Amino acid sequence: MKNIEIEIKKYLDDRGWNKLRPSDLAKSISIEAAELLELFQWTSLSIEETKADEEKMEQIKKELADVFIYALDMSVLLDLDTEQIIKDKLDHINKKFPAELMRKNAKEESGSGADPLYLKIKKGI
Ligand SMILES: [Mg+2]
Repeated sequence: MKNIEIEIKKYLDDRGWNKLRPSDLAKSISIEAAELLELFQWTSLSIEETKADEEKMEQIKKELADVFIYALDMSVLLDLDTEQIIKDKLDHINKKFPAELMRKNAKEESGSGADPLYLKIKKGI
């Protein structure tokens, strides 16, 4: 167990929250992700514009931390190795969407990866 997982386990144990149901944690992750998304409602700020907005950045840090905490709560309570599951998923993504191929087709402006090749691979076409 890594340092942050140990800290999360203590946080859960100290509050008697170590029997939280995975379904409630999944709902909480989604709710906090929606709070993060709400910060961008009616905007399409670039990374630079977002970073230049100090108030926005403070709000982002808080909501992103909420998402991370609930996600780590779930990972710890299910005895998952958080670092390993992230590495496994990155390996999967790297195979499915090879960096070289994606970089060549990335759209300069959006950086969203929502180019036709990405969408084709994602849909399994
Ligand atoms: Mg929140």
